[in-house]
Amino acid sequence: AHAAYAAARPRSAEIHARARELLPGGNTRSVLFYTPFPTAMVRGEGCRLWDADGHEYLDLLGEYTAGLFGHSEQRILDAVRGALERGINLASVGEAEARLAGLIVGRFPSIELVRFTNSGTEANLMALAAARGFTGRVKTMVMRGGYHGGVLTFASERNPVNVPIPLAFTDYNDPEAAMRDILAEGEELAAVLVEPMLGSGGCIPASREFLQALRDATRQTGAVLIFDEVMTSRHGRGGLQERLGVIPDMTTLGKYMAGGMSFGAFGGRADIMSVFDGHRPGTLPHAGTFNNNVWSMAAGCVAMGEIFDSPTAEALFARGEALRTALNAACAGVPMQFTGHGSMLNVHFRRGPITGPYAATEAENKLRELFFFDMLGMGIYLARRGMAALSLPVTEADCARYVAAVEEFAAARQPLLA
Ligand code: PMP
Repeated sequence: AHAAYAAARPRSAEIHARARELLPGGNTRSVLFYTPFPTAMVRGEGCRLWDADGHEYLDLLGEYTAGLFGHSEQRILDAVRGALERGINLASVGEAEARLAGLIVGRFPSIELVRFTNSGTEANLMALAAARGFTGRVKTMVMRGGYHGGVLTFASERNPVNVPIPLAFTDYNDPEAAMRDILAEGEELAAVLVEPMLGSGGCIPASREFLQALRDATRQTGAVLIFDEVMTSRHGRGGLQERLGVIPDMTTLGKYMAGGMSFGAFGGRADIMSVFDGHRPGTLPHAGTFNNNVWSMAAGCVAMGEIFDSPTAEALFARGEALRTALNAACAGVPMQFTGHGSMLNVHFRRGPITGPYAATEAENKLRELFFFDMLGMGIYLARRGMAALSLPVTEADCARYVAAVEEFAAARQPLLA
């Protein structure tokens, strides 16, 4: 698969070779690295992409959920251009900041007050700072296999050297263990940080019971329960929390909300968020040159105020559910399945329910790699790990094309899947 892939992409190979001399691994986003070298995209329109060698793709990756509006939504482009015409960042507060805050506070049941950041990573770090400031405690509990940004990645139990905070771990989707582990930490815990669906971990939804156990246990110990909805907030007007009916103390957001411009936000209960209120004594600092940059604020107002309304969110969710059902029907006979919620889905090469992170076998890893390269060969762009995140321009016909490609894969790779 590598030989055919490389032969068709001499320009991408060249771009990678040059970049490698200057950037370790050839880029600055680990998630975009794969061997022999990543395909370099040079242009996007709607949900179509073109690479440096002139191949066209159906973009089902949707910039890892940040590309919800596609590559050329006119209202987003107009908002960004309009903002820049009034001057590049003004070192000032602006009206758009409070307008966007209003659009978010009105939607998410857990968010009474909100602040902006440049990324989901920062949003999580600041939410943890808020929880620590509010509780006067330091430790945070996270899930084995959870992901909350480049410095908060817990794919391995080894406490990564770049995590700047004391941690405790528990297992995803095990309500009894979570309850026990949180109660055992007692008043040590400042916060419990959880994705209501593991995103990077393979689009594995949390059960309502699990999230409710976290809710009940944190209520008992006084730890701040934080839902990382950086990815999952797209699953409904008020995010996955509203859909599942479990409401955390704080929520972190990011990705698509500024129309694809850099973005992050964290918010929650007014008493917790007030640790940042400059009108009060003993305020915690939260600065950041680009936190309220004019293009993200302007694009965010249009994205959340004019485009991604409740019916649009529901229609996208339904399209994703229908796609997942069709994909799972297409591979019913083989050890292969698609997990997720709504418009986010990930392929797995095993049978039976998947309720948490697992150690993939060598055979599974090979199939996952083959799947990625086979799909690229058929003109379908996914995450290397097999994730798709539908964007609004993706049509039913585009979904049907993915289902047909998966059928072809299952037939062509039958011997390996047996
Ligand atoms: N939390 C989750 C659940 C994410 O999926 C991501 C990004 N993939 C982040 C946080 C970090 O966001 P960012 O890449 O904007 O820092």
